[in-house]
Amino acid sequence: MPDNEKSCFACCPPIRPKGYEHIQYKNIIKRILRENTRSFKPTEKPITGYSCWALGYLDEQFRLVGCLLHPAKNNGQDLRYLTGYGDKCRREYCLEAKIFSELSNKTKIFLLQFSDGMDSFIYSSRVKNPLFRLLRWGKDILEHIAEKEPNRISLIKLKQKYPFLKIQKDPRAIAYPVKEMLKKGCVPDLKEISLFLNQANRLVKYTGPFLEQKYTHLLPMDRDFLDFIRLGLGIKKISYKEAMSLKVNISSYF
Ligand code: SF4
Repeated sequence: MPDNEKSCFACCPPIRPKGYEHIQYKNIIKRILRENTRSFKPTEKPITGYSCWALGYLDEQFRLVGCLLHPAKNNGQDLRYLTGYGDKCRREYCLEAKIFSELSNKTKIFLLQFSDGMDSFIYSSRVKNPLFRLLRWGKDILEHIAEKEPNRISLIKLKQKYPFLKIQKDPRAIAYPVKEMLKKGCVPDLKEISLFLNQANRLVKYTGPFLEQKYTHLLPMDRDFLDFIRLGLGIKKISYKEAMSLKVNISSYF
């Protein structure tokens, strides 16, 4: 919950159809949230369908949406087990929230300016809230940008200064090369990224096929590099030795 205006409830309840967004059903859900809050009674009752009876408003102004069974609402006592989803609710922590939690306070505040004026429905929407996408660039790139830029800047201006932010694909697919280029003082544009990807793909073509010993994401290496070869170059399995050698070869392109 970034302030008193909004909260994120995107993953509540942790059973949703793919692509589902609360904002698609805003009016119906607002009515359900009011009803849940008004009739809230912490007794054992399983979640049915895609709606949880414990999701409600946390404030009197009906702005903050969240779990009425959460320890923060119940003097430290976790009552989420009452829905039968206690463990699943505790585990539900999205990638973006994890990345956000690792950022410095300065970078958190810098990023949150892009959610100014949003309500909880927009803030919880992966489509409408640009923070979801920005966070996928990862800690290093975001810290770099927040360090260099003034405290207030529009998203449009930010994208003009950092053209790579306009890319359509999952940022994790290219965050590694972008990070390395930024370290060298270069801010890549979309054309430079495309040329780099062509070169890297050619390298993979002529150095593969790989022995496929391990799932790429399980290797003990820099997370950004692993995301890059998995999502950017399509290598789902590779041995540690091969991945290390690929990393050395790729670094010569920066
Ligand atoms: S119990 Fe709380 S955290 Fe779990 S789905 Fe319901 S509202 Fe969400």
